[in-house]
Amino acid sequence: MSNGDGDHERYAHYVQKDKIMASALEGTPVVALCGKVWVPGRDPKKYPVCPMCKEIYESMGAGGDKGKGGGKGDGKK
Ligand SMILES: [Zn+2]
Repeated sequence: MSNGDGDHERYAHYVQKDKIMASALEGTPVVALCGKVWVPGRDPKKYPVCPMCKEIYESMGAGGDKGKGGGKGDGKK
């Protein structure tokens, strides 16, 4: 049994790179796009990308100009 954080720990979350760097240096927690707060330490490549982070990341315009003016994510389902 976990304390409710278990699901989050199984994902790799998106975090701003400079935040990761600062965290690595100072050991401070970082805030992921989805709101998850934790201290990165494990290799994120071992985990699937957090679906919530991914959605937020893509809605922020990670796909370049694609979808510009079309709102967020209503182009395809
Ligand atoms: Zn996340």
